[in-house]
Amino acid sequence: MKPFAYVRATTLREAADAYAAHPGSRYLGGGTNLVDLMKVGVETPTALIDISRLPLEEITELPDGGLRVGAMVRGTDLAADPLVRTRYPLLSQALLAGASGQLRNVATTGGNLLQRTRCAYFQDLSKPCNKREPGSGCGAREGIHRDHAVLGHSEHCIATQPSDMAVALAALDAEVELYGGPDTTRTVAAAEFHRLPGDRPEQDTVIRPGEIITAVLLPAPAPGAVSLYRKARERASYAFALASVAVVLDLDDGRVRRISLAFGGLAHRPWRATTAEARLTGSAPHSDAVRAAVDAELAGARPLRDNAYKIPLARNLACDAIATLAGAP
Ligand SMILES: Cc1cc2nc3c(=O)[nH]c(=O)nc-3n(C[C@H](O)[C@H](O)[C@H](O)COP(=O)(O)OP(=O)(O)OC[C@H]3O[C@@H](n4cnc5c(N)ncnc54)[C@H](O)[C@@H]3O)c2cc1C
Ligand code: SF4
Repeated sequence: MKPFAYVRATTLREAADAYAAHPGSRYLGGGTNLVDLMKVGVETPTALIDISRLPLEEITELPDGGLRVGAMVRGTDLAADPLVRTRYPLLSQALLAGASGQLRNVATTGGNLLQRTRCAYFQDLSKPCNKREPGSGCGAREGIHRDHAVLGHSEHCIATQPSDMAVALAALDAEVELYGGPDTTRTVAAAEFHRLPGDRPEQDTVIRPGEIITAVLLPAPAPGAVSLYRKARERASYAFALASVAVVLDLDDGRVRRISLAFGGLAHRPWRATTAEARLTGSAPHSDAVRAAVDAELAGARPLRDNAYKIPLARNLACDAIATLAGAP
């Protein structure tokens, strides 16, 4: 590991100032991703700016019935929060489907959103990777890409976004709150926070240099809406999604008043299935209609040599989740 400075920030202002004073630095949340990447030499920050003790550890109710989740809230606490479990069960389920209990005890809400891809070539300095070193090539494209993207990928990068929580937040129409310095706070829709790779795969998200995630904002749930997160993985624990699905369903007299559907494990960002949503809105969620809508969404997939299995896997996850929520036998 290369030598680096360590700065502990006690205020947001202090953290932003430290970032400006140390070009090439990184903020430190729980460290469960960043420190691992430093150990293998993928990340070589000049300084770690420890923001883990900033007063961003609260989950508070908003006047409109939504929730504000501070960026330093740990995965364990967020998943177990009674308001989260009752109002946003899919968020709790997504968190509990990710990593291990020990990791969730340390990992933060902000760090979870900004964790890097698990593409093995990204983590292997001996292999080319446009995300790690722009212009060097993509080792995965001709290599082992069974876990990689089927939607929205580019010739420059086929990596997937690994966070389960991010998929749930995309389906929930959550927002990410960002601090860029005094008087420069902004919010970004969670579904727009991660980017498709295009020709800039080194940029995972729309966050600007030096910005700090301060909170995630959850809108009030629609009365009567139900939700579910389903994840397919290689084993029961410690495995990232091969495919996952987050669904929020609001039925009115047996017809879909509103549905939010997002896929994980398929693309460089949570994939909000707007085509399927539009087709299902207003109709009864019978199995044929659901399958046709999901197929219309997945028709845009471009599988690679080894990962076409993800398309039927994602379809079955989505159809099963919607049928479960709709109360189908
Ligand atoms: C064995 C293993 C299995 C795992 N399995 C899963 C899984 O199945 N599903 C899943 O979703 N995740 C999984 N994870 C990933 C885990 O969820 C992440 O490592 C964790 O959420 C990152 O949070 P952190 O607080 O430790 O981030 P850190 O490692 O501290 O930071 C990650 C990145 O975010 C930046 N950062 C952190 N906080 C902020 C902030 N507030 N503002 C701006 N920048 C910030 C850091 O600079 C860094 O670039 C797994 C991890 C391991 C090691
Ligand atoms: S898929 Fe993306 S992250 Fe993986 S090697 Fe290719 S460029 Fe790098």
